[in-house]
This record gives sequence, structure tokens and C-alpha cells, in this order.
Amino acid sequence: MDGLRTLKALAPLTSFLKDSIIKEIERSLLKQASTLLDAEKYPRLRRLIRECARLLCLKRLPKVFVRPSNVLNAFTFGTDERAAVVINSLALKVLTDEELKALISHELAHVKSEHVLYHTIAEYLAGGVTLSASILGFAQVAAPIRLALLSWYRNSEVTADRASLLVVNDLNVIKSFFAKLLFFSGNLKKKADLSESGMLDSLLELLRTHPLYKNRVKRITEFYNSRRFIAVRRKIDLRERRLTALSPRCRFCGAKKPVTAVFCPECGRCQI
Ligand SMILES: [Zn+2]
Ligand SMILES: [Zn+2]
Repeated sequence: MDGLRTLKALAPLTSFLKDSIIKEIERSLLKQASTLLDAEKYPRLRRLIRECARLLCLKRLPKVFVRPSNVLNAFTFGTDERAAVVINSLALKVLTDEELKALISHELAHVKSEHVLYHTIAEYLAGGVTLSASILGFAQVAAPIRLALLSWYRNSEVTADRASLLVVNDLNVIKSFFAKLLFFSGNLKKKADLSESGMLDSLLELLRTHPLYKNRVKRITEFYNSRRFIAVRRKIDLRERRLTALSPRCRFCGAKKPVTAVFCPECGRCQI
């Protein structure tokens, strides 16, 4: 659990607030509409999005957009029912297929774990509340709730990073993805991210939505070495094998077979 329930208890949202957020998002989307491109038009991205969504068992594909930008970034916003993912175009240029899958899975994990609405709010809070004043009255939100929200956000990032690793199944890919994220981020805090002074880091991290780079690497490495990772990954492998079994062709000899046949009528090998 990443504390979503605690957070909901701390900062309950009325449907009025939800509606306001949706309206605000639609407004800002409309403003950007001319620069957002439908990800469905990019065959490589389309294929990878579907692969990640299948591995993460998403119930529904969110809308995905590509935004022309020279900064490597992606984000998900909206509400949990109506989520949209925006991927900056630089990602298509500098990331390998596997790294791109790490990026996509991270965003899809936010959708799947229903992080989206609170993320949107946290972004507003972290961004100085200029947008939220009109929609949430969050300017008056007590500092402890604000910090709780940001701290929850960082935990939700760890959850999403875990989803990336589960999909990609290779720690080195995750590390190179994180490194590229930092390198191409255009982030002014880059120096702080790399600094070794722990005290400054923890102070900085307290006020951020995302955990610092080296903490992300540390946390994901811990997860990679955990029994939980092995168990969940095993489940994914099993499900994938079952899916391939449900194919009109044998996965060994390629002979035609009834979709539901577990054993190939030609070579007799078990498909699962
Ligand atoms: Zn995230
Ligand atoms: Zn066969």
C-alpha cells in the first residue's frame, strides 16, 4: 500500500472539487491542443504502450499524447476515471525500446494505482498553487497536509518505478533510463540531485514531488533484490505464457491449432 487511503482521509475531495479539476485540465489541454499529438500515430509507441498495458493488466488504455519538447519527461494527469499521459517527443529520440517501456510503464502504473487525481493536486501544490487557488482553495491547505501529500507523492513514484522494473525485468535498463532522465531533464536541481550531502538532500526532497535520483536507484535496487519482485514477476511470466497459449498457432512448430488447445495437434508440445 502506498498510503492512498490515509491520504484520502487527510484530504477528502468532494465531487465538486473533482469536477473543477476536470474543467481546469480540459481548459489547459485545449490551450495546448495544437501542440499535443496523438500517440496512436506513432507505430512504435502504440505497440509499446499496448505491451506495457497488457503486462500491467490495465483495464483500459488511457489517452496518450506526444508533446514536442527537448526535455526528457512524461507525466500523467486528470482524474482516475479520465487519465491522460503526455510523453515529450525527446523520449522517442533518446530512449531505447526497453527504456521507453520503463517510461510508459511508470506512467501507466500511476493510472492503474489510481494516483492520478492526487498527483494532479500535488503538482499544483508543488508548483506554487497559482492554478489551484481558483479550483481548490488549496492555498489554505495546512502545511502538514501539504507535506503529507508530497510525501505520499514520492512514495507513489517508488510504486511506479517498481512497475517499470516489473515490466522491463532488467535493473540495468531502469538505471540507464533514470540516468538519461537526469541527463536530459534540463532540471535546475540537477546539481542537488547529484550532491553527496545527505542533509541538504533530505531537506530538498521534503519539498519535492519526486524522490532524488540516487534514492530512486537505491529503492529500485532494493526491490529488485526482494522476494516480492521475484514472486510478482513470476506471475507475469505465467500469465504471458497462458496468453501465448491462446494463439491460433503452436508457439514451437508454428502449426495451426485450435485457440483453446493446450497441446499442439502437430508436435504435441504443451503451450503453457
Ligand atoms: Zn511518476
Ligand atoms: Zn507444435
